[in-house]
Amino acid sequence: IREGGPQWKKVFGAFILTASHNPGGPNEDFGIKYNCENGGPAPEKVTNLIFENTKAIKEYKLCESLPAIDLEKPAAYNITGSKSLTVEVFDCTEDHTDLLKKVFDFEAIKKLFARKDFSFCYDSMNGVQGPYAKRIFQGEFGAPDDALMNCVPKEDFGGHESPSHGHADPNLTHAVELVARMGLNKEGRVVPTPAPAPAFGAAADGDADRNMILGRGFFVTPSDSLAVIAAHAHLIPWFKNEGGLKALARSMPTSGAVDLVAKDLGVPFFETPTGWKFFGNLMDSHLLGGENLSPLICGEESFGTGSSHVREKDGLWAVLAWLSILAHHNKDTAVGSLVGVGDIVRAHWRKYGRNFYTRYDYEQVDSGKANEMVARLVELGLDGLGAGGAAQSGFVLSTVDEFAYTDPVDGSYSANQGVRLLFADGSRVIFRLSGTGSVGATVRMYIERYQPPDDAAALEAETADALAPLVDLALSLSQVREITGRDEPTVIT
Ligand code: CA
Repeated sequence: IREGGPQWKKVFGAFILTASHNPGGPNEDFGIKYNCENGGPAPEKVTNLIFENTKAIKEYKLCESLPAIDLEKPAAYNITGSKSLTVEVFDCTEDHTDLLKKVFDFEAIKKLFARKDFSFCYDSMNGVQGPYAKRIFQGEFGAPDDALMNCVPKEDFGGHESPSHGHADPNLTHAVELVARMGLNKEGRVVPTPAPAPAFGAAADGDADRNMILGRGFFVTPSDSLAVIAAHAHLIPWFKNEGGLKALARSMPTSGAVDLVAKDLGVPFFETPTGWKFFGNLMDSHLLGGENLSPLICGEESFGTGSSHVREKDGLWAVLAWLSILAHHNKDTAVGSLVGVGDIVRAHWRKYGRNFYTRYDYEQVDSGKANEMVARLVELGLDGLGAGGAAQSGFVLSTVDEFAYTDPVDGSYSANQGVRLLFADGSRVIFRLSGTGSVGATVRMYIERYQPPDDAAALEAETADALAPLVDLALSLSQVREITGRDEPTVIT
């Protein structure tokens, strides 16, 4: 509901024209999403009904005499004819900024920006976030011009010639310019920078629902980001005003870092299949007669984070949550001794332990072979896989299963959500297939190893080193290289 607009009534749905985090522009990805009255993605029953209705369409008509409307200028346009119509053009940044002002303490963040030892940069990756970034980071917090990178939205996200190759996906591989400026390479290792790296960096995807958080020479995994935000939720005014954090949730392949925070806080925790609608259901559970789980914080390893202030992942929300956390830890620190992103994450590990985590994507794999691989892992099961190399490498398999989920709110059942190899020490290896289209399937392999907090040196290890033995084991158990014919994955995140 947009407040104050005389023409504006309750919004019952919205179409989103988006390439999301994929390359945009002619001959590239383009999608139409439909979101329902709660703001969240349409559930399957709605999209199925839409599809059924399209089959009955016999003709459509175009109104040639509709006047051109200036989409640059907020105004109400009254169009009269045999029927009359009002089209309201509004500034898209207004509502979101107003909402975020209710969630966060903008004055506290403004003080952080005013510090001489704080510096900031934000990469909108030529997606839709640019105008929002200008409005909030410049308009509200006074960030300098050069802090905002690629903030002019472009239809092709900058195209193939741009450093990101028009791939507006905020990760170490694609956010090339930001990652270099923050003093990192695409493996997340520290590299020298020509100018001192900013204290904080972040990026958004093409339609601004994903986010990546970086410190100076420090990459925060999306799973860790979710856990750190959850552990600091009590500092964010909106959660206080809404009666405190009530629940936490993550998608199944996301690391278990947030599980430990849920346990510590004593709040209900949910592990869902991949897809935001499962989180949306939990947020609205009380509307269907269930327990009230809102405010809830949730996230996915694929750089999505959010809470029940909306029913979608919200990249800007995650960035402001991090700025609030930084502002809190630096309330009383002297200028020159800023507590940075890396310091906050390391302190988190020292309390909860660290979930080392990586994801390997093998793209454009033959769908038949990919399905065979999954079926083979399930068939071999605990006995078949556990008897092999698992014991020799020091990892003891405790469960092999296929993840399935019964939604506690609407009772819907989702099967075949990925094969999980669960080890006795809490480590996990997960295989999921996605995109079984004409270009083949993508095999995603998720690797996670838990390091308890008692060994300070082990907590600081490089991710690639800490996970090497488990990666080797996963490759040999799954035979993913033999099956795909690829020595290396397409993307590592
Ligand atoms: Ca997106």
